[in-house]
Amino acid sequence: MSEQTHIIIAGAGLAGLFTAYALTGRGVKVRVVDPLPPGSGASRAAAGMLAPCYEAVLERPEAGDPLLKACLAARTAWEEVAGPLAEEAGMEIGYDPRPSLARAAADAPAGWLDSVSEYLDELGLPYAPAGEEEMLELPLDGQVDNRAVITALVHLLEARGVDFHRGDLKGVIGGIIVDARGWQGPGASPVKGTAVSLAPHVGLPDRVVRFGNRYLAPKAGRVVLGAVSQAGISDTRVSEEDVQALLGDAAKLYPAVRETEVLERWSGVRPRAQDGLPILGWARTNRYLIGGYFRNGVLLAPLMGQWAASHILDGALPPEAIPFSPDRLSLSAT
Ligand SMILES: Cc1cc2nc3c(=O)[nH]c(=O)nc-3n(C[C@H](O)[C@H](O)[C@H](O)COP(=O)(O)OP(=O)(O)OC[C@H]3O[C@@H](n4cnc5c(N)ncnc54)[C@H](O)[C@@H]3O)c2cc1C
Repeated sequence: MSEQTHIIIAGAGLAGLFTAYALTGRGVKVRVVDPLPPGSGASRAAAGMLAPCYEAVLERPEAGDPLLKACLAARTAWEEVAGPLAEEAGMEIGYDPRPSLARAAADAPAGWLDSVSEYLDELGLPYAPAGEEEMLELPLDGQVDNRAVITALVHLLEARGVDFHRGDLKGVIGGIIVDARGWQGPGASPVKGTAVSLAPHVGLPDRVVRFGNRYLAPKAGRVVLGAVSQAGISDTRVSEEDVQALLGDAAKLYPAVRETEVLERWSGVRPRAQDGLPILGWARTNRYLIGGYFRNGVLLAPLMGQWAASHILDGALPPEAIPFSPDRLSLSAT
């Protein structure tokens, strides 16, 4: 395929933006269409954790699981992309490779942390004991500021000549369309997530801490506390009950949560395929699907964007990406 091809990307979340980044890096002309301003969806709602290990702890995949392998490869991709992206955009993106910490939630069963280290041993994933409070340090898990990444990508892509158009695919005829519409894309269903941010305060952690299904992720000027998850829900109204559940769980370990100000509360909608794996590949000759990133979209987006670009331009897809083909899904007409 000629690199002068004009490609239209539907969806200006991190899936679409990183695909645009990879395509324009190869000299392809790109137009991005979205009815909302770039990064209005799940990508803005995320906490920005790059967490192949703790996400595995939550989901317990077996060694060799395709998503786990992709998440580990995606972590390396972030290591490579963070510097050049920030440099080209001329902006900070809050990339923070310091290891995250894992600790038992207040209501965790006795021996929970031991079960985590046993599981990580089984999979050969690295960790180290940390602190006096029985924590594990996860050297592969870091974070980035996802909102800063969106701002940097939009700035950089505009400078590369990408045309951002406020609208949808109506009226688009012919050409290649990359469908990156998040939970509204083919094969994806919604999983609502709710989080809050807190004003930085003495007694709150200074790096990412995971405890059970919750986390505190300190960023410049705010500490993100998440997340409540609800499958099948796409309504982004924030429930006070969910906010109180988050604050209550975190305050049991970090009482400072009750002493500081809640700066913002929000809900976003994660895109999940029926088997929980990402979606990457051709749906039909001119429609390429990229999405289904579910809980790991910030982590996966740079790698998946690179994979999509080389698949579209060179017809080449690495074997690790084959399990993510849309062929495995029963898609209605796309
Ligand atoms: C509370 C929460 C916390 C999270 N934390 C993390 C985390 O710490 N780490 C991590 O890796 N992941 C995290 N995630 C998951 C991550 O946010 C998602 O996997 C990722 O953002 C999905 O990116 P996306 O671009 O596919 O979707 P989105 O960001 O939702 O983008 C889809 C875009 O498509 C647009 N669109 C919709 N319809 C159309 C149309 N017809 N035409 C054109 N455009 C359209 C939408 O307006 C939107 O801008 C979290 C998610 C939530 C909700």
